[in-house]
Amino acid sequence: MKDILLEKEIAKKGIISEAVKKVAEEEDLNPEELAKKVAEGKVIILKHKGRYLGIGEGTKTKVNTNIGTSPEVCDISLEIEKLKIAEKYGTDTVMDLSIGGDIDNIRKKIIEKSNVPVGTVPIYQAAIESAQEKGAITKMDEDKIFGTIEKHAKEGVSFITVHCGLNLKAIERLRKNTRKSLVVSRGGAFLISWMISNQKENPLYKNFDRLLEIAKKYDLVLSLGDGLRPGGIIDSTDSAQIEELLTLGELTKYAWENNVQVIIEGPGHIPINEIEANVLLEKKICHSAPFYVLGPIVSDIAPGYDHITSAIGGAIAAWKGADFLCYVTPSEHLSLPGIEEVKEGVIAAKIAAHVGDIGKGIKKAKELDFTMDIIRTKRKWEEEMKIAIDKEKFKELRKKFPLKNKDVCTMCGKYCAIKIVEKYLGTKAIC
Ligand code: SF4
Repeated sequence: MKDILLEKEIAKKGIISEAVKKVAEEEDLNPEELAKKVAEGKVIILKHKGRYLGIGEGTKTKVNTNIGTSPEVCDISLEIEKLKIAEKYGTDTVMDLSIGGDIDNIRKKIIEKSNVPVGTVPIYQAAIESAQEKGAITKMDEDKIFGTIEKHAKEGVSFITVHCGLNLKAIERLRKNTRKSLVVSRGGAFLISWMISNQKENPLYKNFDRLLEIAKKYDLVLSLGDGLRPGGIIDSTDSAQIEELLTLGELTKYAWENNVQVIIEGPGHIPINEIEANVLLEKKICHSAPFYVLGPIVSDIAPGYDHITSAIGGAIAAWKGADFLCYVTPSEHLSLPGIEEVKEGVIAAKIAAHVGDIGKGIKKAKELDFTMDIIRTKRKWEEEMKIAIDKEKFKELRKKFPLKNKDVCTMCGKYCAIKIVEKYLGTKAIC
């Protein structure tokens, strides 16, 4: 049964939908070319409250912010504050990863308050409720998984992470490979425990058709999760990770035949020299489906600064073709992030996405920097602040020490290099 016209189906017919028109406008792209990419699966369109967001080839690199409660820290107003700070600093989407408190109510509140598309990981709720109702995650039944997915879709979630590629074959690969960092995906861990203890195939893999039926009913985008992503660079690009990716490639094609839009999630921890290869592998194996990278974190020795390790990885990944960056906060590996850490994480990911876009050749990205370069040389501080990603920090640092000469800054003062050269070359040297 199909209730709505699917975005991919419309594009396949060569029709320019309202969503394609809006995304093309926003991204400064040709609508016909964009529709072709949607039809081919290279670009997906997320919908939220009448707004559209394009992710994929030729579009600006997007940023996701994870928010949500934990069993230890459960305060819905704090999560809404995180949502608002993430929106303020330009997040493109949020994912509600709540695993504590009234999960249904928290998700509904986040959807209600969010101005950007909301994603979830329904297996979290299905597993946690199974543990509460039946005493163990391993007692979760298939109806619980698919029922939870449908509930999220019905309430207006735009995309969900589903670890469909984590099958028994991949677990076998994991056993043979003896991973040092084991598994750091929460959803992946829940499914592995369920599959091993029940000696059954992953329902999200075995009953992929059932998942597609739900996705078609709500034009829900499937973010095919990387349950076997390495948890440290010690295991980067190992056979378990690749085994899962190979399955995701097959499932992508099948989803596309059913007009379901797909994103592929990528590894969290990989050294800098393996980023390009990982992007290439995803694009080849998954037929150019949009690549959603978690970080990637390029070194494991900087807890407290993983927004930086991931921004380095994110910038390179985006430059090499990744389409969607999941932010990482300074709290990663240490605690649930607070407001300040969410802000720092979003800003770091936005910088990474922008840097990647300059490398990718996104016209507007470069233009913004060129504008900044000109006005910075002219020392037009107010105008500079308008372009700055973090305007408050700009203001705060500009005022850090008393300004004797407002035309320069306190770094070089009267020896301002720009002013000296301006005097000898003349202002005309600055276009
Ligand atoms: S004082 Fe130095 S740092 Fe400041 S604007 Fe001039 S050249 Fe740049």
